Order: sequence, then structure tokens, then C-alpha cells
Amino acid sequence: MTTATLALSADPAAIAQLADAVCAGSELGAAQGRELLEVVPGPAQDALLAGARRIRAHFHGAALKCCSILNVKAGNCSENCSYCAQASGSTATSYDKTKWLPDEDIAAAAASSAANGAGALGLVAAWKGVKEGSQLEMVCKAVEKLAANGQVRADVSLGILESQVCADRLHQAGARVYGHNIETARSFYPSICSSHSFEDRLRTVEYIKKAGMGLCSGGIFGMGESRDQRIEFIEQLRYIQPDMIPINFLNPLQGTKLDHLPVMPADEALTTLATCRFMLPDRNLMVAGGKEVVFGARLAEVLDAGINAIMVGNYLTSLGTPGEFWNEQAAARGLALTPE
Ligand code: SF4
Repeated sequence: MTTATLALSADPAAIAQLADAVCAGSELGAAQGRELLEVVPGPAQDALLAGARRIRAHFHGAALKCCSILNVKAGNCSENCSYCAQASGSTATSYDKTKWLPDEDIAAAAASSAANGAGALGLVAAWKGVKEGSQLEMVCKAVEKLAANGQVRADVSLGILESQVCADRLHQAGARVYGHNIETARSFYPSICSSHSFEDRLRTVEYIKKAGMGLCSGGIFGMGESRDQRIEFIEQLRYIQPDMIPINFLNPLQGTKLDHLPVMPADEALTTLATCRFMLPDRNLMVAGGKEVVFGARLAEVLDAGINAIMVGNYLTSLGTPGEFWNEQAAARGLALTPE
């Protein structure tokens, strides 16, 4: 580590100046981002979080966007993503496995998402991805019904797309945003998954963008990646420019391959979120899975690190936090929960 690294990470005034520079249009370098990741609780972290909130206000105003997801096909995935309870080889039992949910269940979830304040419902399937033919048509029928229902925007997260045809057809069926996380740094990806590649994921990202769907793509911190790899991951996000970036923290569920890893300390998570805000100032930054286990009784503090979106309700295989909580906490901070 260089002297400069120590200087910035412990220098509240320099961090505040950096926030001003970001608001004025400067792009934070990867080396500076790496230095910010070293910030620990105290005056430097106070300055980092305050700077992240200033950047949020400058680029995003006071709106806190919220959305929700529904596991329409849960469990028995062919893939071996080591963080995932639904992966091949996982013995996690924290959720119910299902085949594709019937239309009534999807309609009920749309109603409950709308009641929770979410403007969109993402239909998520645990499988490798979508291929042309009967599978694509089955999915598109569900998307058409959700879009016609009109209570929430129809989003999907269906894994790796076989071709541009799949992306175009889903868009035509009414899918407005496609969720497809790149998960982590390219250099770390082989450590967490060997059944498909980082490049497979990037190819799907290209199909989504070319089809004209919005892209929701982020990943997970705390899977054993180094801090350099965290910056590599953020830089990749900066390159692909997702419309929405969900930031998850590893929830090391029993039975998953990463269940031996510790939960990230809350202060490290705050520093990581704020660093993301400094490096991705104009992107929608959402905190999604893992926030309950990382922050515990300090959960509301995720709103203090510059994020401008939140996932409400339950996750795919674990419980989340209802919209009322976020509504109250947002209001207490001068933010307004807004359907995404
Ligand atoms: S993350 Fe998705 S592709 Fe990977 S194992 Fe879980 S459900 Fe399957």
C-alpha cells in the first residue's frame, strides 16, 4: 500500500473535495476508488458517507426508487454458482422449490408489490437461461399477462439468453427491464462458478441492450474477492453502464458452497456502498440481498451511504423487509420512496 493510499483514506477534507469534484463532473480513478475502500469508521468515514449523500442529491435528487422480485421457478438449477441456495450441489433448505408459478400467483405478487410501493416486479427463474422455442414462448406468455395486468412494470431475470432472438421476443412480449448480474470481477468469476463463464454473462448483457430493454446488473460483495477485485468489478459496471445496479452482500446460507464465509461487517459494507456511489455517480444504485444479515439492527443506515434505490419485500430464497419500513426511514432522511 502506498503512502498516498493511507493519506486519502484517512483524510476527511480530501474525501469531501473528491465528492465536490465528482459532483462537478470528474470521474474518480480506480486508484482513488481503491483508496476509499480502506476508509474505516471515524471522521474519514463520516466524510465519505456525507460525500456519497451529496453526490446522490446532485445526480438523483431525493427519490428513493424501489422494486421487488418474485421467484417464478425456484430451485434445482443446473448451474453451480457457489453463493446461490438454488445451485446444483446446494443443500440449502431455506426456501420452497417450485416449477413455473401459475398466472394467479404472479398476479397476486404483482398486487402485493404494488401495495408495497414497488413500481416493477421482476420474474426470476432459477435455471441456466432461456432458449428459443417452447421455453421462450412459455415465458413470454407470462410476461404478456403481467404487462397487461398493468399494476407494475413487467421485468424479468431469466439467466443467460441463447440469442438476440430471445431478447427481442421478450422485449416484444412486454419485458421492460432485464436483470442479469455480472456478479463480481472477471478475474474472480471462475472462483465462484464453473458451469458458465463471465463472457456468457457479458454476451447476454449485449443482447439485452441491443433489444432495447433496460439493464439491471450488479453483483455481490463479500464472496472472498479481494479489494482490488471489488474495484475491478465496479469498473466493469462503469463500462457496461446498467440503468440499475443492484448491490448485494453475501448471505452465507447454510448448505451453499460459501456458507463458511463470514458476513461482511456493517461498516465495511457502508464504505463499499459509498465507494460505489463515488465511482458510479449517475447510475441508479440499489441495495438488494444480504442487507438484513449485514446490517441487522442498523439496517436503515444503508440509506446513509448514497444509494438511491432499494429492494423491498422478500428475496429469492430469504426474507426481506417490507415497504413500510423503508417508507418511514426514507421520510426521516428527507427521501421519498418512489416506484421504480
Ligand atoms: S445464481 Fe442463477 S444460474 Fe446461478 S445457480 Fe443460482 S439460480 Fe442458477
